[in-house]
Amino acid sequence: PEQPATATDAEADNGRVAIVGGGLAGSLLALSLARQGVGVDVYERRPDPRLGGDAGGRSINLGLSKRGIQALTEVGLIDEVMPLSVTMRGRVIHSPDGGTRFQPYGKNGGEVLHSIDRNELNRLLLDHAQRHPQVRLHFDHRLAHVDKDRRELELESNGERVRVRPSWVVGADGAFSRARQEMQRGERADFQQEYLEWGYKELSLSALPDGGSQIELEALHVWPRLHGLFVSHPNRDGSHTLTLFLPFEGPDSFATTTGEAEVKALFDKYFPDLVPLLPNLVDDWMSHPTGSLTTIRTGRWHRDDWIVLVGDACHAVYPFYGQGMNSAFEDCSALMAALARHGQNRAAAFAAYEQSRRPHTDTLAELSKANFVELKQKVKSPWFVARKRLDVA
Ligand code: FAD
Repeated sequence: PEQPATATDAEADNGRVAIVGGGLAGSLLALSLARQGVGVDVYERRPDPRLGGDAGGRSINLGLSKRGIQALTEVGLIDEVMPLSVTMRGRVIHSPDGGTRFQPYGKNGGEVLHSIDRNELNRLLLDHAQRHPQVRLHFDHRLAHVDKDRRELELESNGERVRVRPSWVVGADGAFSRARQEMQRGERADFQQEYLEWGYKELSLSALPDGGSQIELEALHVWPRLHGLFVSHPNRDGSHTLTLFLPFEGPDSFATTTGEAEVKALFDKYFPDLVPLLPNLVDDWMSHPTGSLTTIRTGRWHRDDWIVLVGDACHAVYPFYGQGMNSAFEDCSALMAALARHGQNRAAAFAAYEQSRRPHTDTLAELSKANFVELKQKVKSPWFVARKRLDVA
């Protein structure tokens, strides 16, 4: 096999931090470190998202809440982020008969969440990170191997292997993190991965020709059914991104809904009120991938003073609590605070960071699972049942 390049860059990389993954957590952390004057190299396996609109079939818009807002405030970006978002004042529950009910957020109402385009936020974070001369962004660079003893990363870029020897490393490469796998290889590491038996598919509900919204704009919409669940986030142009959660297998599942007739039958049966709103339903269905959902718990999140994990790489959760990105951002704040507190003792900073975050992310994993049941079971709420009886009568 082709020999990877030797670490010719090794000396040049001294003192610089390597971040593996330029997604939400990686780009925010690059910006945070750069603001402290630290030199950062971000290695991202995908091409630069600012050059093309590849969402990779992943969730297009996300709910930003308090913890994420706090982290974005700390890097001075919140005033630029907020105008990109749509305020969600509560959730609208859609019953099978087309009836709706609005539930404001917070005990007394008045609390809000913000719907934001994942790619727009990522691009903004990358732009701001790149404004710092000490930040270098390397797209089309996939982490392939970690040599822990030599403290080197081996990256694959356009068929070439490149070795770098950074001062230390952050694994921000998502739920299926290569950094995590490589870091934990041969170690006494805990690792637990669960897949939900339901997957997801995204569809779009377009805006009206005048830019208005077909359904209430400033809300998260939920179509709870025992057999399937739709959630929608609003976009600034009046459209909404719908995410359908459905079993992978069995009757009326992703496995059985493969042709035009099956798609139409599924919607007629479970979501008839959505049918007139989705004229491109069948095309959308066929062209959008089906994603899987995983929960990952692991430990440790670091090795010595050299490598540390953030975001989904150390705690992927089901999306039903809407806190994955928010907690990934909170990791970045917590890591920066731990580094500031522990000065030169980076191993102590990494350990303190993990200790402070893990109880919260473990709880989040449980809450995210519980909210899956809670959202589905809305269908059994007294209001739902009452409406159904009324309609039957
Ligand atoms: P990612 O965003 O996955 O970024 C990881 C990056 O690493 C990617 O850019 C990837 O290309 C790169 N990478 C991977 N492997 C390598 C490699 N070997 N070398 C180099 N680069 C690599 N969160 C919320 O807070 N609110 C929501 O409303 C919400 N809704 C969601 C809905 C759905 C359907 C899903 C699936 C998730 C949702 N989330 C939500 C969760 C949120 O998307 C994640 O928690 C968040 O993206 C985690 O950020 P991250 O930077 O850790 O990982």
